[in-house]
Amino acid sequence: MQINHDTRCALDEVVDLLNTATDGDQPDLLLSVADLGAYVERNSLSDVGKLTEDDLGAVRSVRERFAEVFEAGEDRTAAGLVNALVAEAGTTPQLTDHDGYDWHVHYFAPGASVAHHLAADGGMALAFIIVSGERDRLRRCAAPDCRRAFVDLSRNRSRRYCDSRTCGNRLHVAAYRARQRESAETAQG
Ligand SMILES: [Zn+2]
Ligand SMILES: [Zn+2]
Repeated sequence: MQINHDTRCALDEVVDLLNTATDGDQPDLLLSVADLGAYVERNSLSDVGKLTEDDLGAVRSVRERFAEVFEAGEDRTAAGLVNALVAEAGTTPQLTDHDGYDWHVHYFAPGASVAHHLAADGGMALAFIIVSGERDRLRRCAAPDCRRAFVDLSRNRSRRYCDSRTCGNRLHVAAYRARQRESAETAQG
């Protein structure tokens, strides 16, 4: 799948936002304006002004909308969700080469709130995935106690686990131990 750098960055922002939601024993990581500030910082979101409680509420609701797109059973459902999200955010596609990055397109309107920024750019990135027929790459980790979101960008769409808790690795080790036990039992028997 051909996916350009901006789309990839926007998808990373979507995934990071989704993964601030409470999951298993992880608390919600987006409960305060400071939490939102940390999110903006670690994703290097540009053109974000002073953050307020209103921004926090609006971004939390964008997070729910992204989650619905991930959960959508069909392309048509996902497309409708993305259309509504992007329409509400309003977009003004603009070529930009800020901060030493090569030319790329920002979809959010100049002066957009952080929620509209995320809805426009994240929404368009999800739109490109749907257009490419790649919606099944929007996934949740398959580890039993983990529901973290990720986008599978592997060539053969084989990725099943998130990496932030090394879920895949942990299961790999569990499978290895099980095989060892089996072969030890076979040797004894
Ligand atoms: Zn940019
Ligand atoms: Zn996981």
